[in-house]
Amino acid sequence: MVEVVPLSSKPLIYDIDYADLEHLIKDWQQPSFRTRQIWEGLYKNYWRSPEEFTNLPVSLRNQLANTFRFVSLEPIQVLHSSDRETTKTLFNLPDGKAIEAVLMKYEKRRTLCISTQSGCAMGCVFCATGQMGFKRNLTSGEIVEQVIYYANLLHKEGESVTNIVLMGMGEPFHNYEATMAAIDRLNHPFGMNLGARRFTISTVGLIPMIRRFAAEQRQINLAISLHAADDELRTSMLPVNKKYPLDELMAACRDYVAQTRRRITFEWALIQNVNDSVETARKLARLLEGLLCHVNVIPLNPTKKYTGKGSTRERAMAFKAELERNGIPCTIRIRRGIDIQAGCGQLAIQQDQNSPPNPLMI
Ligand code: SAH
Ligand code: SF4
Repeated sequence: MVEVVPLSSKPLIYDIDYADLEHLIKDWQQPSFRTRQIWEGLYKNYWRSPEEFTNLPVSLRNQLANTFRFVSLEPIQVLHSSDRETTKTLFNLPDGKAIEAVLMKYEKRRTLCISTQSGCAMGCVFCATGQMGFKRNLTSGEIVEQVIYYANLLHKEGESVTNIVLMGMGEPFHNYEATMAAIDRLNHPFGMNLGARRFTISTVGLIPMIRRFAAEQRQINLAISLHAADDELRTSMLPVNKKYPLDELMAACRDYVAQTRRRITFEWALIQNVNDSVETARKLARLLEGLLCHVNVIPLNPTKKYTGKGSTRERAMAFKAELERNGIPCTIRIRRGIDIQAGCGQLAIQQDQNSPPNPLMI
């Protein structure tokens, strides 16, 4: 008789990679083609329980069920923006921590914004995730499962995920290995096969990890959250700047571009009368001079504990125009999901942890 393992001690199936599964299938003395069948079930058909693997013998299905958990994310709240183009889901993790992930529909794109940590240790003053503090790193499987959750929903509507941005809760380079392992798994040719270029990692500027990322020569897009062109202002908003000041950060960025020949995106949350003047744009242009890059400007989204306001459209346009006049390409990002707190930097758990979970709202 197969011993039933208590639920909590079972590993999550999305935490193992293809090679691990191959070994397991061999250990279980199953024919090797079962590995691919299981992988396709997970990453092409998005089956969410062992019972759905009807192409496997019942004994193998049971073995999977007794060995692995198939679900670790419990969706406890689903919010849709008023235009229904943006959906934010709040998930509970098995240990009671919570994360959020967002689906954005825009023309033919189906972009997911996913989390790499519950909370964040970086403490950027204008970011809701930073304001809640660090809870814990996610495992690679928990990062993967956010994608599978939405891929499964989209699959049922005949659609699929086209892009993934690691811009949800947390600092991906503060959880480097799990983040890369998750991308590799979603990248695997026998499964989702989502090309590296469809991923964008955004970092607050952890220099050693930028250098490591460059050395690994990955095709994943890199975005750097800059927000200020001098150390004093940047440190006041992004405490990490004390440890990794601008000149060292820019040197790492220049080395990255030289090594990979890939363009960097610099993110800039425009804050009225803080970092949105034409002079600041000029300073930024000097900082980025000659670098293969692009600036993504987004008017600051409101959060509870920061009083700064997003810039007006006029100031945003003038900022962009000044950058472009100095030869720096710039786009103003459209705000999405503001009405459901799903915009950049607005992801945080607002539920009272002691109150019962909200009913699922669809
Ligand atoms: N930790 C990573 C990725 C998650 S944050 C990082 O900081 O880059 C994703 C983006 O949202 C970052 O560029 C971040 O600076 C930005 N952001 C944070 N709070 C914001 C806010 N209130 N309004 C607009 N953008 C914000
Ligand atoms: Fe963390 Fe990014 Fe928010 Fe800063 S902006 S607190 S790094 S999630």
